[in-house]
Amino acid sequence: MKINSVKGMNDVLPTAEGDSVAFNGRLWERAEAVFRDVMRRYAFDEVRTPIVEEAQLFSRAVGEATDIVGKEMYTFEDRSGKKLLALRPEGTAGAVRAYIEHGLPMRDPVQRWWYFGSMFRHERQQKHRYRQFYQVGVELFGVAQPEADAEVLSLCNAILVDLGLEGIELRLNSLGDEQCRPAYLELLSAFLRERREQLCPECRDRLERNPLRVLDCKNEGCQAVVADAPASHEHLCAPCSEHFARVRASVDRLGIKYRLDKNLVRGLDYYTRTSFEFLASALGSAQQTAVCGGGRYDGLVKQLGGADTPAIGFGMGVERICALLAQQGVPAHAPALFLAIGDEAAREEVLALATEARSKGLAAEADFRGGKIARQLGRADKRGARFAVVIGGNELASRRAKLKDMRGGEETEVALDELVAEVARRVGG
Ligand SMILES: [Zn+2]
Ligand SMILES: [Zn+2]
Repeated sequence: MKINSVKGMNDVLPTAEGDSVAFNGRLWERAEAVFRDVMRRYAFDEVRTPIVEEAQLFSRAVGEATDIVGKEMYTFEDRSGKKLLALRPEGTAGAVRAYIEHGLPMRDPVQRWWYFGSMFRHERQQKHRYRQFYQVGVELFGVAQPEADAEVLSLCNAILVDLGLEGIELRLNSLGDEQCRPAYLELLSAFLRERREQLCPECRDRLERNPLRVLDCKNEGCQAVVADAPASHEHLCAPCSEHFARVRASVDRLGIKYRLDKNLVRGLDYYTRTSFEFLASALGSAQQTAVCGGGRYDGLVKQLGGADTPAIGFGMGVERICALLAQQGVPAHAPALFLAIGDEAAREEVLALATEARSKGLAAEADFRGGKIARQLGRADKRGARFAVVIGGNELASRRAKLKDMRGGEETEVALDELVAEVARRVGG
C-alpha cells in the first residue's frame, strides 16, 4: 500500500512546479539566503528552539481563548503519560521560554534573535493554509523605545524589498497596554453588545471572552459592525499615545509607507502597543497578500515567569513568500561543469576533476552511471549545465579535452590541468 504525506504537510522538492511551485526548493533557498543576509545586516543572531514544548507554555502565552490554542494545536501525552506536550503553533512562546530559562534577562536583557522553522496548526483545509508551515521571525528583547519598533519594521520591509516583491504595504495599529486597554475593552464590549444580533454566532461567544477578536472576524456581518467600532489607537493613555506617535514618525522618516488599521489585532493575546502586518504582491501583480504579522509583547516575559522585559517581534509566512517569489520564475541552479565518462578508465580522472572544480567554488556534476555519451550529454542539457566535457581514453592519453559551451555549442580544446581554471574564467566573465 502506498503511503502519502499527511494532509496539509508539504514536501519541498527541486522538481516542484505548477500548483506546487511554491514548494520548489530553489525558491526556498533564494528566500532563506535573503533572510540570512538581512538578519546579518540588522545584527540579529539565529536561535533554534525545540519543535515540541509543554502544551501549557502555549496556553499561557498565546491564550486559552484563542483559536490557535483552543482548536488548532497538536497536543499529545508523552510516553510517560505525565506531560501534555504540543507541536509549536508559533515561534514566540518558545523563544521567550528559552530567554527566561537561560537567565538572559539578568545577564544581558537585550537579545536580538531570529529563527526559521516549522510550526504546526490543525487548521481547516483551504488554499495557502497548511498544517505544517514555516515561519521566519525575529524577537527583540529588552528595548522599550519606539525606535526598536521602527527597527523591526524596517528589517521586515528590507526582507520584502530584497526579495523583489512589490505592493509592499505596512498596516499599523496600537493596542495599548495594561493601563489603557481595560477601559478600551469596556468601550468596545459595550459597542458590540448593542449590535450583538448582527454578529456571527462565534463572535457572540467571543464578545464576552475576547472582544478584540471580533475585530478581525472575516464574517461580512461582523465586518460591517466593526467598521464603526471604537479604535484602540484613539483611546490610548499618554505614554502609549506618545510611543505610537514616535513609531509612526520613525517609520515616516525611514520612508516606509503605512496605513492605520484600527481593526488590526492579530490572533494572539500577548500583543501590547504596536501591532502590525505587511502586505506584498508578486512582480507585476496588483493582488496583495498578508505575508507577515507581529507586534510588541511587553508583558509576556513577566507573564511566563521572567523579569519585566519589553519585547517586540514578528513572524513571516515562508510558503506565502515563496508563492509570490514563484511568479518571478524559479531561479536556475545549474552546474557550471558537467563531466561525462567516455571510457571506463576515465572514472577516477572525472571524479578528481569534479572535485577540483568544487574546491574552486564551481558547481560540478558527473554521471557515474557512464554509458552512451549522447545520453550523458542529454543529462547535462537537462540539468542546465553551462559547460560539458567528455573524458575518455584519448583525453587521458593526450591530457587534453574539448570543453563544450552548452549555450552556443562551440568547443574549445584545453589541457586537463587547465580545464577547471578555464571554466572558472568563462563562468566569471
Ligand atoms: Zn464574527
Ligand atoms: Zn497605555
